[in-house]
Amino acid sequence: MSSTRIHADERLEQWAEAGLRGASIAVADALSILTDESIPLLPLIHAAGRVRERHFGRDVLIHQLHNVQSGACPEDCGYCGQSQSSDAPIQAYRLHSREEILAEAQRARDNGAYRYCMVLSGRGPSDEEIDHMAGCIREVKDRFGLRTCLSAGLLDEAKARRLADAGLDRLNHNLNTSEQHYGEICTTHTFADRLNTLAAARAAGLDLCSGLIVGMGEGFEDLIDVAYRLREFEVPSIPVNFLVPIPGNRVREAALAGRPITPQLALRVLCLFRFVNPRAEVRIGAGREGHLRSMQALALHPANSLFVDGYLLTRGSNTRDTIAMIIDAGFEVRLDGAWPDELARFVAQLKGGGSAAFDIDHSGEVIRDDRKRVRNARLGAGAMGAELTIEGAAT
Ligand code: SF4
Repeated sequence: MSSTRIHADERLEQWAEAGLRGASIAVADALSILTDESIPLLPLIHAAGRVRERHFGRDVLIHQLHNVQSGACPEDCGYCGQSQSSDAPIQAYRLHSREEILAEAQRARDNGAYRYCMVLSGRGPSDEEIDHMAGCIREVKDRFGLRTCLSAGLLDEAKARRLADAGLDRLNHNLNTSEQHYGEICTTHTFADRLNTLAAARAAGLDLCSGLIVGMGEGFEDLIDVAYRLREFEVPSIPVNFLVPIPGNRVREAALAGRPITPQLALRVLCLFRFVNPRAEVRIGAGREGHLRSMQALALHPANSLFVDGYLLTRGSNTRDTIAMIIDAGFEVRLDGAWPDELARFVAQLKGGGSAAFDIDHSGEVIRDDRKRVRNARLGAGAMGAELTIEGAAT
């Protein structure tokens, strides 16, 4: 074994040891995860996976996003199709009614969601919007027992308290990028405004959820800066989104340190966040399907949660495909309550394997063509984006 490889193995062991204790790695080590090709990817993922398993076992938490108000936002966030600066042809709508929000929450619960995340476009909610959301949060919790998370832009402590009093569990407010890079993506509010919102939510007793969007033209140092900021804040939930380029937005090319985001680079980013924030719920956010592609299952080693059924403005893979990926990779879907019947049957079939797995409607289709005497079995056109066709003579 070469000395370079021995050196890399020792470093990975040190990082894993630190993470198992809940300690962070040094900034220079974080940089080398992204830049040092002598650190091999699979051993890196394995080391990050050890840390994840220590703090979260093999569980994967499923979140479902619901945009409860879309578009017409006066802010100019360059990555967002709802911004006044975007020409993206999105569907704009006013704040959803109580009935619409409850129906969506029920769908999320029936899809096996552990947490129901509501997102409002705009700079920040008015008093009336806070009242409306507070009422919805109370009902979602009472009727469906779901944990709730709200993303509502900038908030002061008084508004955060009204949401906390209604039973909101968590406030999402992403830092998105570093302080240095912030002016490149938005000019209508500042990085300090974002930090103040996190501080207000914490003072009101809300759990924090805050992450970033990777690939908005930032450098590696910017990414690392965000990872340590979130650690300073002891943020327990970190969504790591990868920019989904939307035509019409100001920021429309996904690039990190001048490079395209390959699946390997995306995996390194997730490992970096695991090693800097070992005890945090690291979530694979938007862009999972496009940037990780066939490597999505590997991302479950550093990360321990994900979204299903799409993001705010873009589609994602569906719940069944995602659940199949999780189970096939040897992880468990974490639910607080019982599985909805249909999903419970689906999961049992997946775990049963063998011929039962071919009864699952999304993954099995056997076509007999007597004329050609050819049997085609098409397997798994799912979350991995893979389609395997087996052709052979019919028996
Ligand atoms: S404040 Fe929110 S909705 Fe408005 S442009 Fe920025 S990210 Fe989009």
